[in-house]
Amino acid sequence: MISKEISQHKTNLKNYFDGEGFDRWAAIYSDAENLSFVRKTIAQGHHQMLAIAHQWLTDTSDVDTVLDAGCGTGLFSVAMANQGYAVTAIDISPKMVSKTRQYAEQSNVIDNMGFVVGDIENLQMHYDAVACFDVLVHYPPDPFIALVNHLAQRCSKTLLLTYAPYNRFLAGLHRIGGWFPQDNRRTEIQMTPDTIVVNALASAGMRIHRSASVSRGFYHVKLVQAFAS
Ligand code: SAM
Repeated sequence: MISKEISQHKTNLKNYFDGEGFDRWAAIYSDAENLSFVRKTIAQGHHQMLAIAHQWLTDTSDVDTVLDAGCGTGLFSVAMANQGYAVTAIDISPKMVSKTRQYAEQSNVIDNMGFVVGDIENLQMHYDAVACFDVLVHYPPDPFIALVNHLAQRCSKTLLLTYAPYNRFLAGLHRIGGWFPQDNRRTEIQMTPDTIVVNALASAGMRIHRSASVSRGFYHVKLVQAFAS
């Protein structure tokens, strides 16, 4: 992918998450009662993934500052701010950042949080921990590797991320997902072979400490925690 295509891809993602995708994902992330079967399994899987990530991060010593890269509606940012971490929430979609700010206000954790609207790759600050959940699943290999490298440069201690692992069964399931009525469709998910992730982290100077597969209906991700080596 050449840089013009990557920039177009990011613009498309921003437009999607700031437009028709906003309501769809805000509903999935709000544990709404009336979700379709497909969306309900995505919500349940996402909830399970965040619970593991929450545990792993709070288990990690010497972490004060956290970057939630691609914060969406702020579920993880606010949970971490509630634990007392100083959290920066960034998203390319202004609507997602507003929603996160609103959620932080309602949860009385606004004083522990900072908010940035923009592309993760333009961020130059450093944080003890960087979390990037269900963001890289939207990127094909070249920008995926560049993003992992950029996230690794931002963190001094630990990086937690998810990606959609490639396997033939999931590729088939993904195709079935494409046959559901338009309303129920997932956004396009890019499956990434494990070797790409392992190599991208190693070249960025990080070693994988632990990983967990989370599979629920139409939600399939691998959660990885890596440490700066
Ligand atoms: N991380 C959140 C969670 O798990 O609850 C939200 C996940 S949502 C599926 C993906 C989010 O990534 C969207 O809000 C989107 O706008 C954001 N995003 C995608 N590419 C981004 C980029 N390059 N910089 C910042 N945000 C990005």
